[in-house]
Formats: sequence, structure tokens, C-alpha cells
Amino acid sequence: MTEKYSDPRFLAVEENYKYITERIAQAAVRSCRNPEDITFLAATKTVPAEVINHAIRCGLRYVGENRVQEYLSKYESIDWASGVQGQIIGRLQTNKVKYIVDKVSCIQSVDSVKLAKEISRQAEKNGRRMPVLVEVNIGAEENKGGIAPDGLEDFLQEIAGLPGIRIDGLMTIPPICEDNTELCNYFSRMQQYFIDIQTKKLDNVSMNCLSMGMSSDYEEAILCGATMVRIGSSLFGARIYPQNK
Ligand SMILES: *Cc1c(COP(=O)(O)O)cnc(C)c1O
Repeated sequence: MTEKYSDPRFLAVEENYKYITERIAQAAVRSCRNPEDITFLAATKTVPAEVINHAIRCGLRYVGENRVQEYLSKYESIDWASGVQGQIIGRLQTNKVKYIVDKVSCIQSVDSVKLAKEISRQAEKNGRRMPVLVEVNIGAEENKGGIAPDGLEDFLQEIAGLPGIRIDGLMTIPPICEDNTELCNYFSRMQQYFIDIQTKKLDNVSMNCLSMGMSSDYEEAILCGATMVRIGSSLFGARIYPQNK
């Protein structure tokens, strides 16, 4: 026990969890939805399993990890009982898919046909269909993953037929913005794509999840239609990176 409490992040998590949950609920109501319509996923990069487990005891049900290796290193130590789900939210290399295909409930960061095909292939091997989100590079930024908005529909059509995946929605990380107007512009454009695609009723494409909004902007994202927010530092505190890397 003493070891747990020596981690500075541990004590604050319970309070942070409550605070964030309340603000999510308020933003949901302001956007004419129910609090339970918004999924709170914790972005857990750099956070030790024992701290994640504490958040789970506070009520957390979705854990999002960026890197396969880090996910696997914590996997056995996380309290998955009580229906906690793990998801991949970061850039995923094709050759790593096989290690996590039986350990996640969704892959949020699909942005190439090659990756979609490999997820489909590995999921089929495991006798399942993997829910995936398509990552959209809403700001058309060069160094960022994601599909450019004007190629989104073609991309969906191209991967929708793959037998081992189910397209469940969209995910984005907007550019760093000068002000809220600019930010909400990106979020609103995402919501528009989300709704447009929903309306088209493409085969094997459902728009259930719109994953956008992080610690600094999750309320704005919810007001613009996010159904899932991915929150790291507001829940766990500033990330502490290992010094020997
Ligand atoms: C780290 C991360 C987050 C959370 O970032 P915070 O600003 O710490 O809330 C959300 N999404 C992705 C893809 C991330 O890598």
C-alpha cells in the first residue's frame, strides 16, 4: 500500500475523476443529451497500472493506450473485471496488430487501408469483428496521422467491405488553436462529417462514436457533438516520462 500512495498522481485521481465526470455531465445536458451518452475514456500513457486501477475503482470504464508495448506491459496488471474496456488510441503499426487484437474492444486510429486490412485479417483469425474508428486529420496537418477530410468517404467505402472490422465512428485530434472559435470550427466540421456519413447509411458503416476532446477542450468537444472524450492529464496529472529513455 505505501508504494501506491507514494505516487503523487494517486491521491488526486478520485477528486479529478468526480470533477471531470460532473463537467462531462453538464456539457452533455447543455448539448441536449444525457450524461450517459458521453463516454469518458482515460488516456493512460505513462500512467502505471496501479493508478489506472484506482481510477477504475472510482468508476472509470474505458482505458485508452497509445503504444502497443506499453499496453501489453500493463495488461496483466489492470483490473479488467467489472467490464472495463481497453482501446488503442495512438498510431498503430501494422506488424503490432496481432499482439492486441484479442485484448482491445476498439481501435480508434485507423488511417490506412493496409492497417484496416491487417486488423480485419487478425480479427477474423480470432473469430471476431473488430470495431474501429477512422482517424480524421481535420486540420490537414502534415505530421499528423489520419485521413484527409476530402478523402474520407472514399476511404470508408474502401475498407467497409473488410469482413473482420466494423466501422463504428470517427476520431480526431484537432490542431492547436489560437482561440475557441477556431477550435469549435474543427469540432463542428467533424460533427458535420459524422452526421453526413450517418445519413448516407453506407453498408457496414455505423456512426456511433465521435471521439474528440482531450483535457483542455473536452467540454467544447461535447458541445460540438463528441460522444467520447479522451482525457489524460486532467485525470492523472501531468505526465511523468521515464528519465532513462
Ligand atoms: C494523450 C492523448 C490524449 C489525452 O491528452 P490530455 O491532454 O492529457 O488529456 C487524448 N488522445 C490521444 C490520442 C492522446 O495521445
